[in-house]
Amino acid sequence: MAIDFSDVCYLENPDNITLKADYKQFLLSLCSPTVIDITCPDSDQWYVITTLLHGNEPSGFIALHQWLNQRPWQNKVNLRFIICSVEAAQATPLFSHRFLPGGKDINRCFNHQENREYYLRANIIEQAIRQVSPVLVVDMHNTSGSSPAFCVSSHMTKQHLKLASFFCDNVILSHIALGALMEIDIDCPVITLECGGCQDIQANKVAFDAIAILANSVDLTLSHKQAIKVIHHPMRLQLAKDTDLVFALEDKGDDGVTIIENITQFNYGVCRAGQILGWLDHMGLENLVLIDENQNNVIDDYFYFEDSRLIAACDFQIFMATTDIAIAQSDCLFYITA
Ligand SMILES: [Zn+2]
Repeated sequence: MAIDFSDVCYLENPDNITLKADYKQFLLSLCSPTVIDITCPDSDQWYVITTLLHGNEPSGFIALHQWLNQRPWQNKVNLRFIICSVEAAQATPLFSHRFLPGGKDINRCFNHQENREYYLRANIIEQAIRQVSPVLVVDMHNTSGSSPAFCVSSHMTKQHLKLASFFCDNVILSHIALGALMEIDIDCPVITLECGGCQDIQANKVAFDAIAILANSVDLTLSHKQAIKVIHHPMRLQLAKDTDLVFALEDKGDDGVTIIENITQFNYGVCRAGQILGWLDHMGLENLVLIDENQNNVIDDYFYFEDSRLIAACDFQIFMATTDIAIAQSDCLFYITA
């Protein structure tokens, strides 16, 4: 399927017929990234909510469809929803592709010099955000593995923290430049909301509640709604180039890296020093790189290799661990923060 990267559809206050009977039919009725404006005559403020940058992260889209079906809408601000990677989400089976085979992760294509294909689409999405001079932007995702909800932000102003505090208890402050939407330079808070894994039953509710809270309008000038924990300096654990990866419950002597199959359980708590997280071949820690915010490899500071085992060298927290081989290989195994 050839993609027209310059294409975008606009819908304003869509009726029931446009929304179809359910969210899957609605997804299949879309033909490109789609902007949905829900207007509010009493307000001149706009909030932007983006979703489906990753086609396999449906919670924001499912919640959006559910919210749109609850009429009458009682939004106190103008809402612009942007449904991004429609083609990837539509590929069969639905919601299984982060991006199309041979394509690019569009959430690595923002803030880039290039302006073709996925970079062009990222620029068009950014323009659609800027068009309404929003007061805030929330980008909804699912984590690749099971996880509680958390926010990620590139900036830590009071407004960013306040906004995140409406949705969850933890915000990761990340200065890692990946080309993610939240890195765009715009004069309002932009945060990523990770709603939890798409297999987690609470994730769709987190996304729905977030839309409902935003539709009701939020005041970012008041003090925090609730305490929020700020987690600094996330680092990305990645495979070294051309390294094999498997997930298993024991060492089977595979080449490259074996990560324990239940790694996603660590998304929920602290990983203690001495914890075995997997097994490595004779190349040891050279199979892995741990990239900090200064682009340094600090793998030796946080892990050690002993009797083929990969062991945590200190206490740290793990985020976004996944057992999806394709994502672990192409993006990262997980994030850690000390
Ligand atoms: Zn995502």
